[in-house]
Amino acid sequence: IISVILFAFDVFAYDFIGKKEVELERKIDELISRMTLSEKIGQLNQLNGNGLSDNLKSQIRNGSVGTMLNEVNPEISNELQRIAVEESRLGIPLIFARDVIHGFKTVFPIPLAQAASWDEEIVKKGARIAAEEATSRGIRWTFAPMLDISRDARWGRIIESLGEDPYLASRLGVAMVEGFQGKSLSSPNGMAACLKHFCGYGAVEGGRDYNTTQISEEQLRNIYFVPFKSCINAGAATLMAAFNDLNGVPCTANRYLLNTVLRSDWNFDGVVVSDWNSVHELINHGYARDGKQAAELAVNAGVDIDMMSLDYISSLEGSVKEKVVKESVIDNAVRNILRLKFRLGLFHNPYVEIKNDVFYTPEYLEAAKESAIKSCVLLKNTDKALPLSEKIKSIAVIGPMADAPADQLGAWTMDGERQHTITPLQDLKKRYGNTIVINYVKGLDYSRDLDRKNFEAAVAAVEKSDVVLFFAGEEAGLTGEARCRADISLPGAQKDLLSEIAAAGKPIILIMLAGRPIEIYKELPLVKAFLYAWHPGTMGGPAIIDLLFGKAVPSGRLPISYPMVSAQLPYYYNHKNTGRPAVGDLVMMENMQQNEIQTSFGHTCYYLDAGRDPLYPFGYGLSYTTFRYGELNLSANDMTEQSKLTVSVPVTNTGNIMATETVQLYIRDVIASVTRPVKELKAYRKVCLKPGEEKNIVFEISIDDLKFYTANGEYRAEPGEFIVYVGANSRDVKEVSFTLK
Ligand code: BGC
Repeated sequence: IISVILFAFDVFAYDFIGKKEVELERKIDELISRMTLSEKIGQLNQLNGNGLSDNLKSQIRNGSVGTMLNEVNPEISNELQRIAVEESRLGIPLIFARDVIHGFKTVFPIPLAQAASWDEEIVKKGARIAAEEATSRGIRWTFAPMLDISRDARWGRIIESLGEDPYLASRLGVAMVEGFQGKSLSSPNGMAACLKHFCGYGAVEGGRDYNTTQISEEQLRNIYFVPFKSCINAGAATLMAAFNDLNGVPCTANRYLLNTVLRSDWNFDGVVVSDWNSVHELINHGYARDGKQAAELAVNAGVDIDMMSLDYISSLEGSVKEKVVKESVIDNAVRNILRLKFRLGLFHNPYVEIKNDVFYTPEYLEAAKESAIKSCVLLKNTDKALPLSEKIKSIAVIGPMADAPADQLGAWTMDGERQHTITPLQDLKKRYGNTIVINYVKGLDYSRDLDRKNFEAAVAAVEKSDVVLFFAGEEAGLTGEARCRADISLPGAQKDLLSEIAAAGKPIILIMLAGRPIEIYKELPLVKAFLYAWHPGTMGGPAIIDLLFGKAVPSGRLPISYPMVSAQLPYYYNHKNTGRPAVGDLVMMENMQQNEIQTSFGHTCYYLDAGRDPLYPFGYGLSYTTFRYGELNLSANDMTEQSKLTVSVPVTNTGNIMATETVQLYIRDVIASVTRPVKELKAYRKVCLKPGEEKNIVFEISIDDLKFYTANGEYRAEPGEFIVYVGANSRDVKEVSFTLK
């Protein structure tokens, strides 16, 4: 009976939703039928906010603007909206957009840091809070999440990414989309997400921003497309075409990407927006001779909205008259844009209700702190240097990042205010200033500072303290768009400062505030403990102090491989094997005898002077406790398309602190029609264990976990042997194997 009722309900729901969509498409078509060609092209035009200029007002009145970015004053946006709704001929509302990347006013850790939480709940919550704050300023569309798979820490925009792994980026990307868009896009605090940058932008040559990419179809489908497809399936409303040239065709004019893959293969019915001025940049790419041809190529390829180049508005009418662009192409773009405006509920409710006091609420700050705690990764902890005892008498606080409120917010924080930021130094003083002597000497004024004038004072502070907190890293301005670095080691004189204070012989805790993994292997022996705090946002200070004093236990795991040196980049764990046999233990160049290089290293597929391994592998992170993994237990030795396998592993907390472990499952397809990665993350589970507690963690493996794009382009699993690895990170795993019949 129950199933009959459920079935009836399903049919009803399907019918209802189906009807709603038909009704919506009918409304859109009806509206389009009343639009002039120039009004249609106006919808495709996106302008940057510039207050209430007469010029902008008249363009909106004429129907020459469809959407706007970067207008955050709700009084102004309401007035512009009023002009669109009341004074333009058809009254089509505007959408206001903004890069709300990791928070609006309350700033959460940079996305790469959030990815280190491996925690969908907190990632989703962060996005929801960002949406609640931003929509209160009229922003109903954010240009996030950035889903570019990032294997190169030299690339400044790695901070905005969710790391190097397609599966992790998919899970967390979906969490962000759900958070931004909320329960219903049409509610006043629903904010459309934008998946960017489609596609391959993270693979720019040499990690140099905006550069060319060459990515095979196999890699696109098996790696780079994966998070985009997952987020589209989760209902993401919009997508941005990338700046870069992909395999000889700039993404902004790439029919294969925007038409074949996105619209035909994936049935995407949302909006595609260009990147900033990227339509016009088709000229610089050497792909279009002028703005008119650039507009034609972009709109014909499937870019609905021209962000800021003005090429659409200035030339597409002519192109339609000349029949270089079909009017139906314009209609399709308008259809996508109107559909978004309907989905956002803007035809019913175009204005933002101006509210006060919706920023930095205690609830939001608490969530930002939780997010920062979960994002920090403990990478080294010799002799249990951490957590610090509250009974400690004196602490030296050294380094340019201990009290750098703007830098700790990270890149892309146009709206977050530094006066609301709590730095580690501020929080330490507030909580422990009466009980612990705090000897603070910055040592260097900012991360790139080369002036050693305060080194002596720093050493003196260290000498009179029991322990040293060294806050190193990079300024926010060294990260983000167009902020690539060839040398990703500590900038300025920070390395020298560290070695001078280390000479005093006190235990040093290194806390890194940075937007990428900073090359540190040479300095690492100087420190007892190493906590990676990234750019942790508004509440970074309290989060770090909680972790240092054991009020919270580190649980973050690296969402990228941590390279030994920047010369190893690009580096990623899910690489393919070479054909050369393994050659035993790694011997580094400096340890080899004369002539040995010629005789014994014929098979070496890594650098003689930088080794084969990263400093820390993907998925790595320590806790204040330890976990033991038992043997893996597989439910059967083979499976079929229809059956499922389970793999279980007992995990025990062997320490005396309750803590969370992230149990990770990787799979390798041993022989396939295209070569497969040595390991691919396919599942993970966060599990909280009390001291001594053991839990049996069970993962289910289904056929979907084994599928990939095969040599003939089909998405399927190929029969044969598979290896399953389970463990604490991509390196420290146990394995079992099974056969797919
Ligand atoms: C960036 C985009 C961003 C856009 C609008 C561009 O420079 O590449 O990610 O959304 O600017 O600010």
